[in-house]
Amino acid sequence: MLAEVISIGDELTTGQRLDTNSQWLSERLCELGARVLFHSTVADDLEANIRVFREAADRADVVVSTGGLGPTEDDLTRQALTGVLGVELVLDQASLDHIRDLFARFMRDMPERNVVQAMFPAGTRPIFNPAGTAPGIDVEIPRPGRTPCRIFALPGVPAEMREIWQAYVAPAIAATSGGRVIRHRRIKCFGLGESHVEAKLPDLIRRGREPSVGITVSGATITLRITAAGSSSEACLASMEDTVRTIYDCLGEVVFGEEDDELEHAVARLLADEGKTLAVAEWGTGGLVAHWLSDLPEATPLFVGGSVIRNAAALRGLMANADLLLAQHGPASGPVAEAMAAACRANFHADYALAISDFPEFDPKAAEPKRVYYALSSPVATLVRSVPFAGHPSILKVRSAKQALNLVRLALLRQDQAGT
Ligand code: AMP
Ligand code: MG
Repeated sequence: MLAEVISIGDELTTGQRLDTNSQWLSERLCELGARVLFHSTVADDLEANIRVFREAADRADVVVSTGGLGPTEDDLTRQALTGVLGVELVLDQASLDHIRDLFARFMRDMPERNVVQAMFPAGTRPIFNPAGTAPGIDVEIPRPGRTPCRIFALPGVPAEMREIWQAYVAPAIAATSGGRVIRHRRIKCFGLGESHVEAKLPDLIRRGREPSVGITVSGATITLRITAAGSSSEACLASMEDTVRTIYDCLGEVVFGEEDDELEHAVARLLADEGKTLAVAEWGTGGLVAHWLSDLPEATPLFVGGSVIRNAAALRGLMANADLLLAQHGPASGPVAEAMAAACRANFHADYALAISDFPEFDPKAAEPKRVYYALSSPVATLVRSVPFAGHPSILKVRSAKQALNLVRLALLRQDQAGT
């Protein structure tokens, strides 16, 4: 089943508002097994709307539009559909009663303009909108020699749109798609580049494979998205099992979680297993690791606190030998990271302390990238690691914060494995 999503409104085409409806609807359509081939965004212009609906009805089996169903002059979706079908607008008494009733509940008279929201292109079905005055419209556009195209025109207000989708549109589409559903599972990886991950999974990312595996990277986190089609959710998940196992076997500790997991969730789980606490001392990352850890409700007892260092004076406040180490090694160095971690562990009375050095000066033309240094101090030892400091400046902070958390994760994981 081919699908198209249409978003209507000047506020979208002028960039004043982000079109979030298309994203949400596309995810839902994919879950129902539809293939979304096009997104169209169109201004509040009658001719342009008619054109977009005509084109969509020609190239998609199901079209879901949002917006343009309000009572004002610029809301033209019902007129556009009337134009596409070549019919008149007719009044639907039940919709009018519902709209009057909504106004009465707020002790207000219904303005005459709102009557238009109870008008529908002849031969189409109103879709009840429990929460708002704009009912949706369910239309079939005849296509000679082909099955008709089904259009669901929904109000633009995201909450109303979602409610109508769940109550009316999703069941209607599911009924025509023969009960086939699509499910996804996301496996999250960190520590290897995208092409390295792909090279370790040579046969999985092939086009046309069932279930399919897609790979995307965002802020240095790699997501493998497995997609399966089947007669039920359970059938989809079962058909993904072998693929999931292969991914875990091939990637080992590069996998840190699934679905919405981030590295801090993985670290929090490992710390919770051990009943241990963590503190952080950050220079280059400016408190980003602390920010992530403090956003985790379950990490509250595990993450005890931290320091953000931005200059030598601040480093002196954290530890005694700051000036000597800075003079000998500079702020982007292993010895400084190591001393920061040790001092932080003592100051915060934590079991572990993670430190991130200052970032070296970024020079994209340098033959060898400079390095950023991480240290993890634990009751038994202090680990120091360095990683080349390269990549687009916009992700350096995020990537470094993740590299630091990954150091903690791997240390806890390996210690765990060594102990069992
Ligand atoms: P409308 O149905 O065109 O009157 O839209 C009602 C309101 O819903 C607009 O003022 C927007 O704030 C919001 N809206 C409309 N379309 C979208 C969209 N595609 N994504 C997010 N919000 C939207
Ligand atoms: Mg509008």
